[in-house]
Amino acid sequence: MSRTRIIATSTTAVLSIALAGCMGGTIPDASAPITQSEAEIGAEAHPQLLAEFGGAMTGPQAVYVEQVGKNIAVQSGLGGARDSFTVSLVNSPVNNAFAIPGGYIYTTRQLVTLMNNEAELAGVLGHEVGHVAARHSQRRQAAAQRNQIFGVGAAILSSVLLGSNPLGQQLGQAALQGSQMLTLKFSRNQELEADELGIQYLNNAGYDPRAMATVLASLANQNALDARLQGRDDARLPEWASTHPDPASRVQTALSKTQGMSGTLNRDTFLTRIDGLVYGDDPEQGIVEGRQFIHPELRLAFTAPQGFYMVNGTSAVTINGQSGKAQFTLAPYNGNLQSYVQSVFSGLSQQQITPSSIQTRTVNGLPAAFGTARVNNGQSQVDVTVFAYEFANDRAYHFLAITPAGQASTFNQMYSSVRRVSTQEAAQVVPRVLDVITVRSGDTVSSLSRRMAYPTAQEERFRVLNGLGSNDQLQAGQKVKIVIRGS
Ligand SMILES: [Zn+2]
Repeated sequence: MSRTRIIATSTTAVLSIALAGCMGGTIPDASAPITQSEAEIGAEAHPQLLAEFGGAMTGPQAVYVEQVGKNIAVQSGLGGARDSFTVSLVNSPVNNAFAIPGGYIYTTRQLVTLMNNEAELAGVLGHEVGHVAARHSQRRQAAAQRNQIFGVGAAILSSVLLGSNPLGQQLGQAALQGSQMLTLKFSRNQELEADELGIQYLNNAGYDPRAMATVLASLANQNALDARLQGRDDARLPEWASTHPDPASRVQTALSKTQGMSGTLNRDTFLTRIDGLVYGDDPEQGIVEGRQFIHPELRLAFTAPQGFYMVNGTSAVTINGQSGKAQFTLAPYNGNLQSYVQSVFSGLSQQQITPSSIQTRTVNGLPAAFGTARVNNGQSQVDVTVFAYEFANDRAYHFLAITPAGQASTFNQMYSSVRRVSTQEAAQVVPRVLDVITVRSGDTVSSLSRRMAYPTAQEERFRVLNGLGSNDQLQAGQKVKIVIRGS
């Protein structure tokens, strides 16, 4: 959750209008150079997308990712690709990579930390170049205009919790503001086509094309581990967390397409270049530590209920569980908490949602106001609660929570846990970072796993991070990644 992020006009609107704009003409084929109008579409959405994903990183790692990205873009055969493609390493703790028209491709630093060699990085970026070259966004947009399916992806999240019904969708929609909607959901066939193009580009560039399968396998294993650690039974991360749906089955397809192929991996070069990358949450955006969210810059913290897991987005922190869902965010504040709570309710949906009352109290020394509204939601009723806190005359934050009717108290402990963070405590919030080490004789998976800066599942995290199967052992002299506390 970044400091200043107040939900602005969604970038989706910008992109879809622009895309619609270029729909007048025909869609260029997969080898045509990027057109002027495509470049303009991308240039318009690019800055907002960067803002949504924590900003573009600079420095040697960003330069390295850009180099690998431009080298693989050239393999696409799109005229002038080296200059016309923009490759960004973004400061996001989510495993993600995406592309928009006009040659703008992105990977998050978190996804880069999961990779184990340069060929995997080239594979992921090649996949995104494939989406651009094959004009998947434009084709998707054309299809959407033909059959109005545009908004489908966005509703997935809330429908899991509350079933596909109007209010749930609005909350899901609210939670999915901005960038998550931007990366238009590509169809399964388009994902497979982008994999295939990525494999071709890898092969043309002399990389080992099997890297496409290994990186997808790492992503599938990481999803499964995250789901297990978050106590979720479905291994798929919420749609917005990965634009690479169902990596597991795509592994088989990629393997079958790269059988007998070989090439360069550049493992040691890659690991040396990514050494020191921030891993997980960046304190500048706040950190999720077990059930606590703490933001050293905003000087605030709160604790989620037992059995719920949190995802730290740039404009909100979402709190997810079987018996409810909430998000913590901010909105413009004029010093009146009651009207603030009222305006959050009225901004929720067309239908008038009015709390039975708005009460005030003090929470850990903070002035607070809250209200709950009972709302018909398709077949069922839900309770929608807004709980707001004044941190300064011009700064307030709030929870927007939804629970089945009669269960609004599910989040009471969380509401009472919001507190200011002292300067000392803020100074102790340090990020985790990637540390690339060389295995010495006598080092084992379990001895090195014990150095992972996590209280739980150290060995599983180590094996997934290094692409190691459950029986794989280490060789002296081999480079591996561990996650340690930074400074
Ligand atoms: Zn894709």
